[in-house]
Amino acid sequence: VPLLLSQFLDRAVKLYGKKTALIDDGKSFTYEEVNDRVNQLSHGLRHLGVTKGDRVAYLAPNSSEMFEGFYGVFQLGAIIVPLNTRLIPSDYAYILNHSETKILFVDHELLQHIEPIRDQLKTVERIIVHGQGEANDWTISYEAWLSRFEKTPVDRPEMDERDIATLLYTSGTTGKPKGVMLSHRSNYLHALTTMHHLRISDRDTFLHILPMFHVNGWGSPFYYTANGATQVCLRRVRPEDIFPKIYKYKVTVMHMAPTVLNSLLQYAATYGYKKQEQDIRIVVAGSAPPPAFVKRVEEELEWEFIQVYGMTEASPLITTSIIRDTQLKLPKEEKYRLKAKAGYEFIGSDVRVVNEYGEDIAHNGQEIGEIIVRSNTVMEGYLNNQQGTDEVIRDGYYHTGDMAIVDEEGNIEVADRKKDIIISGGENISSIEVEGVLYDHPAVLEVAVISVPHAKWGETPQAIVVKREGHEVTEEELIAFSRSRLAHFKAPTKVVFTNELPKTASGKIQKVHLRKEYWNEKE
Ligand code: ATP
Ligand code: MG
Repeated sequence: VPLLLSQFLDRAVKLYGKKTALIDDGKSFTYEEVNDRVNQLSHGLRHLGVTKGDRVAYLAPNSSEMFEGFYGVFQLGAIIVPLNTRLIPSDYAYILNHSETKILFVDHELLQHIEPIRDQLKTVERIIVHGQGEANDWTISYEAWLSRFEKTPVDRPEMDERDIATLLYTSGTTGKPKGVMLSHRSNYLHALTTMHHLRISDRDTFLHILPMFHVNGWGSPFYYTANGATQVCLRRVRPEDIFPKIYKYKVTVMHMAPTVLNSLLQYAATYGYKKQEQDIRIVVAGSAPPPAFVKRVEEELEWEFIQVYGMTEASPLITTSIIRDTQLKLPKEEKYRLKAKAGYEFIGSDVRVVNEYGEDIAHNGQEIGEIIVRSNTVMEGYLNNQQGTDEVIRDGYYHTGDMAIVDEEGNIEVADRKKDIIISGGENISSIEVEGVLYDHPAVLEVAVISVPHAKWGETPQAIVVKREGHEVTEEELIAFSRSRLAHFKAPTKVVFTNELPKTASGKIQKVHLRKEYWNEKE
C-alpha cells in the first residue's frame, strides 16, 4: 500500500467517526461530518476539471474550510499550495503563476489582496470565496457551491507515494520564497515520527496556533487527525484569544513560535492565569529560545516545553530536545539548558554537523559546522529550480544553511544561520547566543542581534530591542550587561530601540529586513 495522506482521515472516520474533530468559531464537526464535506469538496473540484497533479491554492486563516481543503484536494491526487496570509498582492501573483495554480480558494476577508492582481493570474481558472459575501462575476461563493455536491466517497486515482502532495513556499526569511515540493511519503513519514516524539493520541485536544499555511502548522492536520484528536482553530493569535480557548476546550497540546509563547508568558504574568482550569500537556516551539525562557514556561505556566528544529525543505522537523532516561535525575536548571538546544535527530532522519570539507565536526561544544540531513522527509526539490535544488541537496544530504555546535553527548545546538553569523575580528559570533543573554535582562521584551559593518572589526553585533512595558533601560546599560555575561568581543557595540520587530507570519523575526535597515548605521 503506498503511503498516502488521505489514509489519515480514513482511519479517523473509521475509529472516531462520531467524535468532535474540529471546532472553528463556534461551529463544530465530527470526523464523519468533516469527511462528508471533504467528499463534497472533491466532487466539486472534479466537476471543475481538477485532476491528479493539478494545483489548488488556499489563502485562508486556520479554519474548517482550510482544513477540509487538505483532504479534499489530496484524495484527487491534486497538489495543495498554501499561501501565507501576510504577503502582498504582487507576492500572490508571483506564487500563483509560478505554481501554475488552477483553482484558488480565498477567505472573504483576504479577497482584497487578490482583487488588484486578478488580471495578472495566468493559470487560475476559478476563485472560490470562503465565508460571507455574494458571488460576483469573478468569484464563486463556497458554501452554496459545496452544497451542490454529493457526500458519497470519491473514486481516487492511482497514486505513487512519491507524488507531490504539497507545494509549500518557504517563509522568505532570507529572500524570495522558494516552492518546496513535498511528496505524500515525506509528509506521511514526518507525521508518523512527530506523533511518536510528541506522544500524540486520541486523548489530545490540539489548538491550531501556527498557521496551517506554514510548514510548522501545516503538518498538524495530519498528526492530530490520524490519531482522532480534537482540533480547535484559532483565527487571531493573541493571548486574550488563546487563554479562553485553552480553558474552554481543555486543550492539551500547542505548537507555536517562541515570540507567541513569550506573549503568553507576559500576559499570564500581568493578568494572571488559571492553572487549575487547564490541561496543557506539552507546548512545542522552535527557534532556539534561551534556557531562562524554558524555565519561565515550565515554572510560571507549568507546561512541559519541547523544542523542535526543522525547515520547510524537510517537512519540517528533523530534531527534538530529548531528556534521556539517564538524565531524568538531573537538576531542573540542567534540563532547561538541554531543552534550549535543538537536541537529537528524529527517528528516520540522519542528521550530521559537518565542516567545510564535509567531515563531521568534533563533539566538544567548541567547533562549529553546518547541519545537513538525509531523510525520507526531505523535499523532492524546489519547483522549476534545478540549480537551487542542486545547491542545497548534495551527495544525498540537504544542506540546511544552519550552523551548529555539538556537545560531548551529541546534543545539537543551533548557533545561527550561515547568513546571520557575525564575523568580528575573525571570530564567529552567534547572534542567538547574544540574544539569549539580552533576553535575561528584565527590560527586554524582544531582541534581534544582527551584523553591521565596522571599520576595525569588519563586522560587529548590533542589538535591536523592544522594551518591556513599564521598564526603562539605556543603550549603555544593555551593553554593560552583555559584557558582564559574554566574552567582550561578542557583546553588542550598539543597541537601538524600536516598537516592533518585523516578523514572518509564523512569528519569526525577519533579520533580512533589519539588516537592510541598519546596515549603514554604524560609523
Ligand atoms: P527562507 O528559507 O525562505 O529564508 P526560513 O528558512 O525562515 O525561510 P522555514 O523553513 O520556515 O523558512 O524556517 C526554517 C529555519 O528556521 C531553519 O533553517 C532555522 O534557521 C530556523 N529554525 C527552525 N527551528 C529552529 C530551532 N529550534 N532553533 C533555531 N533555529 C531554528
Ligand atoms: Mg530556509
